[in-house]
Formats: sequence, structure tokens, C-alpha cells
Amino acid sequence: MNTSEFRRRGKEMVDYVANYMEGIEGRQVYPDVEPGYLRPLIPDSAPQEPDTFEDIINDIEKIIMPGVTHWHSPYFFAYFPTASSYPAMLADMLCGAIGCIGFSWAASPACTELETVMMDWLGKMLELPEAFLTEKAGEGGGVIQGSASEATLVALLAARTKAIHRLQAASPELTQAAIMEKLVAYSSDQAHSSVERAGLIGGVKLKAIPSDGNFAMRASALQEALESDRAAGLIPFFVVATLGTTTCCSFDNLLEVGPICNKEDMWLHVDAAYAGSAFICPEFRHLLNGVEFADSFNFNPHKWLLVNFDCSAMWVKKRSDLTGAFRLDPTYLKHSHQDSGKLKPAFNIFLTDGPFHVLFQHWQIPLGRRFRSLKMWFVFRMYGVKGLQAYIRKHVQLSHEFESLVLQDPRFEICAEVTLGLVCFRLKGSNKVNEALLQRINSAKKIHLVPCHLRDKFVLRFAICSRTVESAHVQRAWEHIKELAADVLRAEKE
Ligand SMILES: *Cc1c(COP(=O)(O)O)cnc(C)c1O
Repeated sequence: MNTSEFRRRGKEMVDYVANYMEGIEGRQVYPDVEPGYLRPLIPDSAPQEPDTFEDIINDIEKIIMPGVTHWHSPYFFAYFPTASSYPAMLADMLCGAIGCIGFSWAASPACTELETVMMDWLGKMLELPEAFLTEKAGEGGGVIQGSASEATLVALLAARTKAIHRLQAASPELTQAAIMEKLVAYSSDQAHSSVERAGLIGGVKLKAIPSDGNFAMRASALQEALESDRAAGLIPFFVVATLGTTTCCSFDNLLEVGPICNKEDMWLHVDAAYAGSAFICPEFRHLLNGVEFADSFNFNPHKWLLVNFDCSAMWVKKRSDLTGAFRLDPTYLKHSHQDSGKLKPAFNIFLTDGPFHVLFQHWQIPLGRRFRSLKMWFVFRMYGVKGLQAYIRKHVQLSHEFESLVLQDPRFEICAEVTLGLVCFRLKGSNKVNEALLQRINSAKKIHLVPCHLRDKFVLRFAICSRTVESAHVQRAWEHIKELAADVLRAEKE
């Protein structure tokens, strides 16, 4: 494809995308295909001679779209939202064009510098404590990770290294293996599965703390686990608190858990993957109170802040905890800046030879990284903080609207407090009847939902997801759910 064809095809692709987004409501939200549907539709191997662009475009509606789950349909209420906005898509195009691998300042200065500024912008939108910002030339800073799972893993590995160093400083005879065998991390029993995986990958025990009646981790349960583990000779070193759990959007009690972590020398990581976006609204900021006790904090603008996947924002109070944990400096990645002596001290952070450097390669697991901050820059500027706040508020309002519809129907119950954009509900009655209801909903494919378990209850999750979802869609979804519920209840009686 030469440049002039790219100009033409690029414009056609923008039209295709615009038509797709505009017409998405008319597409069935969940596809009809069965596993393995795609392989028979395309050749067994790549073509020897090139296909034309036309061939490819024609295959999109034939081969790809029939197997797409339309996450941006206003009838998609499953999982949690994944962000989608036009400014982010356009920024992604530019990111693809620049195509840099921004692991260090020198590898593409704009990539590193814009990221540090965007992370400060975002930190200020959330009113994060200044200790997390880079701007203040303190010890903290922010980095874009690919996912919340990576952020949790990076935090756990950094905490592990820090604990090992601390224990070895006190008792030099201890081997790393001997220490790791005893390290133990904690999260609530409502934490995301990625937390357990981080423990598995990091080779340390991870214990689930029983949550309270509101599905929150509380001081007493954590304290109890700490005491019995210490008595058994284990070494508690890491706690993940979740703000906005995936099951039911519950909030661990950070104001209780935080001080314990600080007192007991345990790294506190806060996972607010979904809920974090809401903290840009003053009325929801109180949910983040206690973040001042955290060593690291993470949320996904790629979930609810209109920045398309991937963009997971992570801040640490002490960057050297990350860079010290993962540092390696092969010669081919070194770059010395001849004029570093002339720089203002605050800007030394960008250079290999500065006392504090923003070499993002040391803050993450891969070496390579995309120019993801462009998406934030485009979105933050084109929506403004007010536009982003309005977007969050609209979703929260829609979830309360759905909640009140559920509450008006005595056959149904609400299963957890509705704080943000998620409603957990079920038919009063057995798990079986609720499983049957979900089965009918997802077979009809007019809307899409996923379930969760809250204790021993099978629960349906209704998450406000789409950028374009309106009250009418929520109302229609509820009418549809009620009809299917009537069918289920009738079938049960027969
Ligand atoms: C969605 C979610 C995650 C996982 O996010 P990824 O970015 O896909 O890794 C982790 N924790 C919570 C609470 C979540 O809701």
C-alpha cells in the first residue's frame, strides 16, 4: 500500500468505523456463532500472492463481524465497561504512525514526557496526594501499564524485593528462597482473580481475608489473619485493597486497612480498576479516602474514562521501589545526555545519569511500550474534566434508574449496595431459577449480562457500559428481563 492508497483507504476506514458505531444498536449484541466457526471460513495458510484491500474489507462483514461481541452496543451490560471514544481512536492512529518504543527518554522524549505530565494531570483530577505526583520532584510518580493485572503484579514483585532486602539487611544469613517461602500476601475474598494470579506468578502465598456483610475487607479480619500467620512464622508483606470489586463494586475499608499496613511494614496496593474513574467527581472522591496510606494505586482509564484499551494508570509513592526492583542496564539501551549538567534538577528525572530517572522500562515487565499517553491527552482535552465528570454521572444515574425498576418489582431483590454503575440483582428464590433466567437472557441475545456469586447466591450483574446507552435502552432491557423472568417462573410451576 503506497501513501496515496493509504490516504484513500484510511478515509474509507474512518467511514466504516463511523458507520459501525452509528449502527451498532441495530446489531445483535452477542453473536450466533459456535466455537470453531472461523477456521473453515478462511484459507489454511497466508496467501503467497498479496490480496487486495478490497478483498479484506469485504471479508470483515462476512467473517469477522458475525463473530463479534459488540461491547459498545447500548444493550451490552456485561462485565464492566471498556472505554471507547473517537478522540482516543484518533490518538491511537497517530500512536501507530509514530510507532516508537518508548522505554527511555531518549527512545522518544515526547513519549516519556507526555506520559509523566498526563499521569500528573490524571492524578490531580483524582486529587491524589502530592506524594504520588512527579511534578513535585518528590519520590513518587505515575506510569501507564497495559492492565490492572500487570500493575498488581509489578506492585507485588516490588514489594517482594523490598521485603527480601529489608530482611536480609537485618539477617544477612537468610537466603532469598528461605524468605520467599515465608512471605504472605493478603486481599479480600472479593478481590479480582488477577490478584491471586500475581501471587502465583510471584511465587508467594496469597490469603483471602473474609469480607464483611457489605463485601468489604475490614481491619479485624485482616488483623486476625496477620496474628495467626505471624505466630506460624510467616512474614506478611503485601496487601491488595480493592475499591470497586468486580463481583459487586464493594469497597474495602481503606481507612481501617491502610494504617495497619503502614504499622506492620506491609506494602499496600490499591486496585480501583473500574471505580477509579469515578473519583474525578467530587461527590465520589470520598471513596478514595485512605489512599494516602497506599504505596501504589492503580485504576483503568480504559474501563470507564473513555480512553480505549489499553491504558492502566499506576502511581507509586516511591519510584525507586519499582526501579530498584527490576533494574538492568545493558549497554545497548544506555544513552548518556552530554548536556545533563545544564538541565534544571527537576528534569534530571528523564535521564539515565540523573539521580531520579524516568526510564519507564524499569517500571514495568516488558521493555517495549506504546505511546499510550496520546490517547489520554486527546481525550482529556476534548472532553475536559467537566465532560468526563458528566459522563460518569450519567452512568451512575442510569444504574440507579435500573435499581429503582428492580425495587418496584417484588419478585426481584437487589443484592449489594449500588454505588456506581453496577447493579447486582436476582429473582427472590433459588439459584436454579436465576441460572435459568440468565440462560434465557443470553440465549435471546437482545442484551448481554454475566453473573457472579455473592457468598452462595447466584446473582445477575447489570453494568452500565456503553458510551451511548440511554434511559430508553435501560427501560427496554428491564422490560425484556421481566418478560423472560415471567417465562422462567411459569416454567418452574409447570
Ligand atoms: C477489571 C478488573 C481487573 C482486571 O483489569 P485488567 O486491566 O483487565 O487486568 C482487576 N481488578 C478489578 C477490581 C477489576 O474490576
